Amino acid sequence: MSESKVHRSGRHFLQIPGPTNVPERVLRAMSRATEDHRGPELASLTLRVLRRLREVFRTRGPVILYPSSGTGAWEAALVNTLSPGDRVLMFETGHFAVLWSQLAGRLGLEVELVPGDWRRGVNPAEVESRLSRDASYRIRAVGVVHNETSTGVTSDVAAIRQAMDRAGHPALLLVDTISSLGSIDYRHDEWGVDVTVAASQKGLMLPPGLGLNSLSEKALAAAGQARSPRSYWDWKPPLKENAKGFFPYTPASNLLYGLDVALDMLLEEGLENVFARHSRLAEATRRAVQGWGLELQALDPGEYSDSLTAVRVPGGHDADRLRKLILERFDMSLGTGLGKVKGRVFRIGHLGDFNELMLAGTLCGVEMGLDLAGVPHRPGGVGAALQYLARTP
Ligand SMILES: *Cc1c(COP(=O)(O)O)cnc(C)c1O
Repeated sequence: MSESKVHRSGRHFLQIPGPTNVPERVLRAMSRATEDHRGPELASLTLRVLRRLREVFRTRGPVILYPSSGTGAWEAALVNTLSPGDRVLMFETGHFAVLWSQLAGRLGLEVELVPGDWRRGVNPAEVESRLSRDASYRIRAVGVVHNETSTGVTSDVAAIRQAMDRAGHPALLLVDTISSLGSIDYRHDEWGVDVTVAASQKGLMLPPGLGLNSLSEKALAAAGQARSPRSYWDWKPPLKENAKGFFPYTPASNLLYGLDVALDMLLEEGLENVFARHSRLAEATRRAVQGWGLELQALDPGEYSDSLTAVRVPGGHDADRLRKLILERFDMSLGTGLGKVKGRVFRIGHLGDFNELMLAGTLCGVEMGLDLAGVPHRPGGVGAALQYLARTP
């Protein structure tokens, strides 16, 4: 096969729901020489980054940073708090919830996976009834994906916490915020979450490579009892070293410099404003989808995700063919359908360092792609989105 290299001028549109576009300021901050990871400069950087990460998680408790993907942070949350044979209650909201439950199973945990249709979030009433029936407290943890990136559905973590409290059940609450932290309102302490799992490459606007856990007092106490084998993921060594600004291994220091600036950006804009921006861009995206006469994967408007939109293509059409045409013709990457919605769904990422005209370009690319791919739709989706953006402050 001959490798004909197509020249691409201008910017690639990276509109998958993570990794997201990395801002210039963050790129520049990372472009620097490596340095002594036991030196004074790195120590003050670490302390500053960890302090401000607490603001983003909205917690007063510790935050742990791993050089890892989000999957590593999933594993860390489980092995630090649970023992082999412990039961974990999880919910099949989509592909990522399923992957996390499979990981839990491979660690020797006994997973109770509540089936779902991949179009709705976690039902708090189901949480309450499952926990109420568990009179002997065999369930040790409830694991929830806050924003299911495969479907564009957000679950109500505060309502899940209330359901657990109504059941009077002592299980830990573990929450995956990999595609919501820094994009959608989230409150680790106020919502009584025990371990929050996050990663660098989505709302935090960094390249992939950092996994995060934020911990409650109860999670720390559980870690003292948990018997899952762990070494790299063990919270104890980093907690001890982090107090002085160091790590028990070589940290991903250039990513930490990027994180420092990403935190500047989030806190300069103000988290409330960041969430409002995401919510507005998400609403404009949904107006476009509605204008095209296409269907959202999410069924309940109360659960629509503000960080991505999953769009269903009509039967007989292939969402991946549409994505391929859009990539070839307009140099834009859209998210593929994952797991059982492969080919049925494409996903528009609208999170991270993103603004109105970037969204306008994104939606134009989708509308032209729908035309090219012969996917039946009405014209005017882009128009509806632009009108919303222009008229809504
Ligand atoms: C991206 C994502 C993951 C996986 O993270 P990796 O960094 O790819 O390991 C897990 N959960 C959710 C909700 C995600 O969006």
